[in-house]
Amino acid sequence: MRKPVSARTKKKSARRPVPKPRVSANTAAPAAKGPGRVGFVSLGCPKALVDSERILTQLRAEGYEISPDYAGADLVVVNTCGFIDSAVEESLGAIGEALEENGRVIVTGCLGAKGDVVKRTYPKVLAVTGPHALPEVMTAVHAHLPKPHDPYTDLVPAAGIKLTPRHYAYLKISEGCNHRCTFCIIPSLRGDLVSRPIGEVMKEAENLVRGGVRELLVISQDTSAYGVDVKYRAGFWGGRPIKTRMLDLVRALSELGVWVRLHYVYPYPHVDDVISLMADGKVLPYLDVPFQHASPRILKLMKRPAAAENTLRRIEQWRNICPDITLRSTFIVGFPGETEEEFQELLAFLDAAQLDRVGAFAYSPIEGATANFLPDPVPEGVRQERLARFMEHQAAISAARLRRYLGRTLQVLVDEVRADRSAIARSAADAPEIDGVVSIDDAPHLHPGEIVAVRIVGASVYDLRAQLMGARGEA
Ligand code: SF4
Repeated sequence: MRKPVSARTKKKSARRPVPKPRVSANTAAPAAKGPGRVGFVSLGCPKALVDSERILTQLRAEGYEISPDYAGADLVVVNTCGFIDSAVEESLGAIGEALEENGRVIVTGCLGAKGDVVKRTYPKVLAVTGPHALPEVMTAVHAHLPKPHDPYTDLVPAAGIKLTPRHYAYLKISEGCNHRCTFCIIPSLRGDLVSRPIGEVMKEAENLVRGGVRELLVISQDTSAYGVDVKYRAGFWGGRPIKTRMLDLVRALSELGVWVRLHYVYPYPHVDDVISLMADGKVLPYLDVPFQHASPRILKLMKRPAAAENTLRRIEQWRNICPDITLRSTFIVGFPGETEEEFQELLAFLDAAQLDRVGAFAYSPIEGATANFLPDPVPEGVRQERLARFMEHQAAISAARLRRYLGRTLQVLVDEVRADRSAIARSAADAPEIDGVVSIDDAPHLHPGEIVAVRIVGASVYDLRAQLMGARGEA
């Protein structure tokens, strides 16, 4: 079965749906032979990961066992990604491998929603569903591997089954998107925005925290739009009414006493209120805002949400409210029609914005995206050359931004302890898998999930080096 890949994708850090194979190693069922064993391969972005976790949770709740390898599985579920061409290739490769190694395969996820590409390529797959399709996947599993008679529902922890380490978890607050960015096919794959009821989201968050999670990563396609579809309807949490709205959600999450990190927020004016919560220490001072470009003409061609906002002014305001905020963003270079001048405009924006964390991609003409029909496509060679220039430009900014931490004391969350006695941790400025890390010298006694104080003694382009603070606060 596919092996988990390295968790970090920094230099050209990933647009969300990066294929990342994950197998069910940390969800293995008890050794006793059960009524049906399912293998699982999970690819794609954190939203797909949450879908995988829900399917695995349901499988275990119904008494199925989870097989850590192809050989021991009665069938294999492959959760695919179909966002960019390389993700499609990776997903098709994973399906092919599962068919070869096991032979009985159910496909779900974004690639499954892309017409009949899966069935055409692999007519032998047992069933194909789109993303966010728990009932359909379970129906397919039941059809090919009968449901056990005696479900051990009490074997499943309240937090469900997670594919992330025990100390952090993604919290998906909505599905789908009301925007129609011309380079993106997510709305056609996942539909319009559907916000999860806030009471349900808070209950899941509470269960995760009870299960040992120290960091919650809020994800969606557009976190700032949470609740728009239900007109910010009030729900209930802990017996009190609470609105289905980003600000109210963040306030409630801040009461759980764990790190809360916000992803995929658009620069609307109401986001300023959330920045105030960051300044008050209620949530991590970290904001992931996918700007995608800086040229007004290109942003208009992209049909980006909040394209008309004055982004630089808004960034300045955010830093006035919360000087320590870490800003992360992603960009596309070589979008159809992008001129050298417009690319230069983007580089000038990087200089002015001084973003802390940046990921970039050369434009990829995804099948079904309306941007493919725009005039003056940028040749592949030019796209790649601009990507290299972009990353080099931002690398200098990133290194300078990190140098300001030298000598400072930071709280960090430990992710792992290595054989060389160092520990790998993250500060408020580092989201898992996409940002840098803080490497702590000589800390073999630490444990994943611990939050400790460190003194920063070194900085590179993306990462920091630190020493543990002693009992009296000395490094
Ligand atoms: S905001 Fe744009 S890029 Fe993001 S999911 Fe919606 S349509 Fe796609």
